[in-house]
Amino acid sequence: MNTPFALDETHDPALASWVDAANAADADFPLQNLPIGVWRDAGSGDALRPGVAIGDRVVDLLAAAGAGLLPPDVSDSLAGCRDGTLNDFMRRGAGARQALRLALSRALRAGVPAPMQDGWQRCLRPLAAVETGLPCRIGDYTDFYASIHHATTVGRQFRPDNPLLPNYRWVPIGYHGRASSVVASGHPVRRPLGQRRPPDAERPVFGPSRRLDYELEVGAFVALSNALGEPVPMASAESHLFGLALFNDWSARDIQGWEYQPLGPFLAKNFASTVSPWIVTMEALAPFRVPFVRGEGEPAPMPYLDSAANRASGAIDIQLEVWLQTAAMRAAGHPGDRLSRSSFRDAYWTLAQLVAHHTVGGCNLQPGDLLGSGTMSGPAPEQGGSLLELSDAGRRPLVLSSGETRSFLEDGDCVILRGWCERPGARRIGFGECRGTVLPALAMPS
Ligand code: MN
Repeated sequence: MNTPFALDETHDPALASWVDAANAADADFPLQNLPIGVWRDAGSGDALRPGVAIGDRVVDLLAAAGAGLLPPDVSDSLAGCRDGTLNDFMRRGAGARQALRLALSRALRAGVPAPMQDGWQRCLRPLAAVETGLPCRIGDYTDFYASIHHATTVGRQFRPDNPLLPNYRWVPIGYHGRASSVVASGHPVRRPLGQRRPPDAERPVFGPSRRLDYELEVGAFVALSNALGEPVPMASAESHLFGLALFNDWSARDIQGWEYQPLGPFLAKNFASTVSPWIVTMEALAPFRVPFVRGEGEPAPMPYLDSAANRASGAIDIQLEVWLQTAAMRAAGHPGDRLSRSSFRDAYWTLAQLVAHHTVGGCNLQPGDLLGSGTMSGPAPEQGGSLLELSDAGRRPLVLSSGETRSFLEDGDCVILRGWCERPGARRIGFGECRGTVLPALAMPS
């Protein structure tokens, strides 16, 4: 059986593409990546179509299928994506993904005969000329809390003597989020109105959030469903995943602080979450698997969250970055400042553990469901994955290269998440960008 971990000819770091831009050393979308999303010609208003990013181009998969360039089984596997979503392709699992990956790797690699290249050329569009959308219908969205560094830093702000609650080391903490407000990268994010209670005030006040924040996360899309009542064991947990994207779980900290007890996040996190457009498949991530290791003295996971395979290669080394471009920077043509950097390998729980835990009581996951990792902060203070951490809850504002300061986000701020994988002996692959710009709050309702 093919496993999502297996390396094959598509991972060969020596492979180059006849799409020149895919061969640049820092390209996010080399031939070894082949991430999948949906797109249309910018401004066309056309229906979204499935595509694969290669270098600075997107492959129009339906055009390639229509031209007979793909093997029949691969064409058939894409037929259900004519509705502009990847859900039907997702539910087909690893076999369909691997067949598409192999076909594209062979078609787009350097040395392909000229007539074949000509056929494929007609199926390419410049990435700069297309707009991307949400890759699938997200039926359900769950957000976890898988960085112990984030949980500890944030916990310390609320409970200096007892930062980490005792369940953290045993239960992958999460909550059920709101799928309807997950938006595609580039969609603006409106500052929410809501209730907050100012420090020392007796009563709450209503108005625009003053503590709008981002959360640097990895989003995992579900491929295979499990039947209601049937848990997914660790051994097959990863086969239920399609791939990963960058994910910004926008959060209003003042609304959160007032509303979160006793049932957890609600309006503080349901106004918008942004996902990057190109899903990097589990296959593309295979070279970047690393052992799942915990620090000295940490408890071993319970048996239902443990497996030899998970210990050997359950984690994935994904470098993550947050960039901030203020309105003033944008006006001056400044690309923005990097605020922090961390790695997904530092997560306290692996993706397999999140899937196994989510389903252990019988909950059914479905193709297109989205699992957020939780804010990915590294062990060092400057590796915080949110402004809440980096500004110490507003006590130490960040000074930007423009001279501006930030405790939390201001209107006009654009938050850009970036991610990539690299290691010796493998081709570097990237996730592209996850972007969102803050719009001013609406006028107060009267
Ligand atoms: Mn979150």
